[in-house]
Amino acid sequence: MKPRGRVSGMSEITTVETYVAASRQNPRLARTTLHYIADMIDYFGKARVFEGIYGMDRQLDDIVDFFRGYAMSMERRLLLLVGPQGSGKSMTVDKLKRRLEEYSHKPDGILYAVAGCPFHQHPFDLIPLDAREAEGIWWHEEAVPCPVCERAVAARGDWRTVPVRPLLISARDKVGVAKHTPTDLRREDITNFVGNINFAMLKERGSTYDPDAYDFEGKVIWANRGILDWTEVFKSRRQLLSLLLELIQSKRIDLANFPTVHVDEVVVGHTNYPEYNVFLSEDIMEPLRGRIHKVDFPYNVDIGGEMRIYRGLVERANRARGEQKHVPGDVYELAATYAIKTRQESEGLRGLSPRFFEDAFSLAYTRANRCIDLEVITDAIEQTFAHQSIKDLNLKDLLKLFEETKVEFIHKKVDVIVEEIVPSHFYDYGQNLYLNYLDVAARSVLGEAMSDSDKELLDDIEGVLVQKRQISRQGRIAFENVLLERRDELRRMSYRDNEHLAGAINEIVFNKIKNCLRLYDKTEEMDAKSRDLLDVLQRSAIEEHGYCASCASALFKIIGRSF
Ligand SMILES: [Zn+2]
Ligand SMILES: [Zn+2]
Repeated sequence: MKPRGRVSGMSEITTVETYVAASRQNPRLARTTLHYIADMIDYFGKARVFEGIYGMDRQLDDIVDFFRGYAMSMERRLLLLVGPQGSGKSMTVDKLKRRLEEYSHKPDGILYAVAGCPFHQHPFDLIPLDAREAEGIWWHEEAVPCPVCERAVAARGDWRTVPVRPLLISARDKVGVAKHTPTDLRREDITNFVGNINFAMLKERGSTYDPDAYDFEGKVIWANRGILDWTEVFKSRRQLLSLLLELIQSKRIDLANFPTVHVDEVVVGHTNYPEYNVFLSEDIMEPLRGRIHKVDFPYNVDIGGEMRIYRGLVERANRARGEQKHVPGDVYELAATYAIKTRQESEGLRGLSPRFFEDAFSLAYTRANRCIDLEVITDAIEQTFAHQSIKDLNLKDLLKLFEETKVEFIHKKVDVIVEEIVPSHFYDYGQNLYLNYLDVAARSVLGEAMSDSDKELLDDIEGVLVQKRQISRQGRIAFENVLLERRDELRRMSYRDNEHLAGAINEIVFNKIKNCLRLYDKTEEMDAKSRDLLDVLQRSAIEEHGYCASCASALFKIIGRSF
C-alpha cells in the first residue's frame, strides 16, 4: 500500500531517469519555478497566502497574474514592487516565501533536486538538449548542469543514473529562498551572490576549474528553485544589476572560470518612487527596464481595509499577551480616517505609513488599562509624532489635519445623537416641546399674552428653522399662521413625523443635553435630572453602538470638551 498523501510514481524516484519516468505520470514534476509558485498560490488560495494584508486587492491580483504567466514572457521578468516606505511590500513577499516553504512539504508541492548539487538543480537540467527532444520534454533551453553536476555526470558516464533527492524549501537552510538588502555598498560584492574561489582548496587542488576549489555559497545559488527577494534593488551597485539582468533574461549566471550556470528563480525587487525614477533616467539600465513587471504599491487608501489592519494588530497583541483589551469600532474608524486623509491627496504615494499607526496602537495598547478608548488613541497618535523621524512631510500640517479629523468625527457623533438617540430616547420630552410650541405659536398669531419662557421657546425653535433656511426671518408670522390653521391635525401627530419641525425639535432637545455634556467631567456638580439624562446617553452608546461603559465615558468627555 502507498503511504497516504504520496503522489503516484514518487516512491521510485531515485535517479534522473526515474524522475523523468515519474514526470510522465505526474506533470507537476515538470514545473518551472514560476509555474510552481503559481500552483502554490492556487493550492492555498490567494486569501490564505496573503492573510493579514488588507486593502491591497489590486496589487495582490497583479502579483498572482505575474506568477500565472509561467511558460510565457513572465518567466523572464523581474517582479518589481514600487511604493513608499512601509506600504507592505516586504510583508507581501514574506508571506509568499513562507507559504512556499510550507508548500514544499505538501504532496502537491513535492520537489526533487539533483543530489549533492549546490544549486539544488532540477533533475531536468541534467538532460542534454538532444535527449530532451527525444524524450519530448519541454524545459528551459539554456538549462545545463552546474560544474558539480557536470562532474557527477562524467563520473557515471551517464546523466540518467545521477541520483536525485527530495527538496524542501527553507530560508533557514538557505534553500530556495534568499534575501538581499544593499546595506553597505562597499561590501556588496558579487561573490555574495555567486560564490567565490576557495583559495585554501585552490592550493590543494591546483586548478580554478575544479569545482572543489570553489565555494558555491551565494544568494543567487541559494535562491535557485524559489524566490530571490531583493529589497531596495536600485540602491545596489550597477555591476550587480547587470548580474540581475542576466539572471532574469537568460536564467544564467557566470561563475569565475566555469561555464555559465543555469538558474531558475523568481526575483522580486522592491523600491520606492524616487529611486525608481532615477533608475528610469539611466540609459545603461535600458535593457533591465524592458524586463520589468511593475506593481505599484502605494499606501492603502481604503478605510475599511485600514481598520482591519489595526483590528488585526490588537487581536494579535491580545492573543500573545493573554489580555482582553477592548477597542470600540469608533477608535479604529477615527485612526483609519486620519490615515487615509494624510494619503489621499497623493493617492497613497505619501502620507503616514501603516507603520506609524502600528506604533500609535502599540503605544495606546501599553498605556490603556482595559480599553483603548478615544482619549487613549488620540493621545497615542499625537505622542507617536514625537518618536518619528518624518521626512518630506510637514509635521504642522499633519497635526492640523488630525485636529480637523477629530472635529469632523465629533460632528458625526453629535449628528448621531441628534438624529437617532434624541428621537428614540427623549421622545416624550420632544413631543411635549412640540405641543407647547404649537400652542405658543397660536398665541403669538392671535396676539395673546406670552410668558418669557414662551417667547424663549418660540425664538429657539424658529431660530433653528431660520438657521436651517426652512423659513426666512420675515416669514415667521406666516409660518405660525399655517400652524394655527392646521393646529388640530398637527397636535394629533408625532413630532417625528412633522417634516418641518422634527429637526428643530431634536436640536432644541439636544441643546439641553449639550449643556449637561459640557459638565461631563464634573458629574458631582450635576442635579439628578441632568445625571439621568446622561445615563440615557450612556446606555444607548453601550446597548446600541458597541461601547463599554468606560469607552462611552471617554467618548462623551471628548464630545463635551468640544462645545
Ligand atoms: Zn548542479
Ligand atoms: Zn471599552
